[in-house]
Amino acid sequence: NLFGELRKNSMGINFSNDNELKATAEAVNAKCGPWSAAPLVPGAGGAASAAAVTVTNPADRRQIVGSYVSADAALVDQALANAVAAQPDWDRLPAASRAAILEHAAEQLEARRAEFIALCVREAGKSLPDAIAEIREAADFLRYYATMARRLFGQPEQLPGPTGESNQLFLNGRGVFVCISPWNFPLAIFLGQVSAALAAGNSVIAKPAEQTSLIGHAAVKLLHEAGVPEAVLQYLPGDGAVVGAALTRDPRVAGVAFTGSTETAWAINRALAARNAPIAALIAETGGQNAMIADSSALPEQIVKDVIASAFQSAGQRCSAARVLFVQEDIADKVVGMLAGAMAELKVGDPGQLSTDVGPVIDEDAKQILVEHAARMDKEAKLIAEAKIDAEVAAHGTFFAPRAYEIPALSTLKREVFGPVLHVLRWKGSELPQVVEQINATGYGLTLGVHSRIDDTVEYIRSHARVGNCYVNRNQIGAVVGVQPFGGESLSGTGPKAGGPHYLLRFAGERTLTINT
Ligand code: GLU
Repeated sequence: NLFGELRKNSMGINFSNDNELKATAEAVNAKCGPWSAAPLVPGAGGAASAAAVTVTNPADRRQIVGSYVSADAALVDQALANAVAAQPDWDRLPAASRAAILEHAAEQLEARRAEFIALCVREAGKSLPDAIAEIREAADFLRYYATMARRLFGQPEQLPGPTGESNQLFLNGRGVFVCISPWNFPLAIFLGQVSAALAAGNSVIAKPAEQTSLIGHAAVKLLHEAGVPEAVLQYLPGDGAVVGAALTRDPRVAGVAFTGSTETAWAINRALAARNAPIAALIAETGGQNAMIADSSALPEQIVKDVIASAFQSAGQRCSAARVLFVQEDIADKVVGMLAGAMAELKVGDPGQLSTDVGPVIDEDAKQILVEHAARMDKEAKLIAEAKIDAEVAAHGTFFAPRAYEIPALSTLKREVFGPVLHVLRWKGSELPQVVEQINATGYGLTLGVHSRIDDTVEYIRSHARVGNCYVNRNQIGAVVGVQPFGGESLSGTGPKAGGPHYLLRFAGERTLTINT
């Protein structure tokens, strides 16, 4: 089996053991920075002359978490020159040597997890359970891609041929890979992209989301300390319009791994295509308009528990989050009543407290988009449930308390709303094909939740819905590396799936060697 024999996923902490929980919370809360970050580009002078950007805590903007210095165009150029020069030696290392470095980084990450959890809580506003899961997922990616590198890149594949001829297929790194990562999984997706590109033999320039530049810096240092040469993995924080744009229009870039909005993926695709340069590989993981379909054979308690986790965990800031609940009308009143009750109990507040269910959203811009969406929904839809937030807490952080609206039609939603807002639609038992058709018609295809005890219904949905990750009778978030390879299709991304057996291949080139013996 591809996943089980050589590696195990990272261990979590035991949430039912109060001592373990308290010790973790104390270790994390003892680490409060300030942290600092700057570009990591060997041989560059002058980077520190730019003004530092102050980073504040999303849960309380009065708290300074640290500061970072952005890269400029000259540094982008220097980084690319370094990356081009360093890549061939890295590529020629045995895959097992690259894998061992990544595995060492996973061990170090776990040994220093209190600091990384603290960074995720303070810079990204992650709740403690989310931050713990983030460190685990990051370690899983490091180990998984190490395993896959050994398996796929360790030996050339022997191919058949006539007598007197040997044929071999080798995999190699493509060259310089740019990894542009999002703030919502600032460690897991960041390290996932970077470690995959490195495992396959590429040199990497990592450009984090501006909002989580400190976490990206700590992650790159971790890999350097584990043994990745500094010119093989460089770090360029800064504005996407400056740093990201300069990288993606440069002919020296052989591939881009991107996670973020569909609009930015289009822009990157256009920039890569406009170059008179080798045709670049693009791996994009983008947005979703994810639905959960519940029929009347499902347990209302289970639907409510799973839709709350899917829509509101991580303050709804996951690509995989449920945005729309299609509930069959026979059970709709009951489900909506229970949903309102459960949402009224959600605790919105400091993500460093174990009692908190929903932390802040990432920044003021994100909050404004949610406020504007809610104002539109207040006019066009019906508010059916909401969570409360303490006025003092709300005054100092960028919070948005979860809301649920009953909407007249799916077309009421123009685009993905990235936060804790759930939309509810009722459907009649005979309308399953229309429900699935509406979901497909959004053009997105990332996650889908199904709650049903009828096998034919589940099979109908499975075979008609065009989505990357379908989850039945459970929540639809938190894909596990090597267990639920993650990624969608169409407007939701290019594939291959992160944490899946085919991901590394997209970072690789293929060469054959034929010898007449
Ligand atoms: N893999 C994550 C999950 O399943 C979502 C990743 C994302 O939001 O980009 O929840």
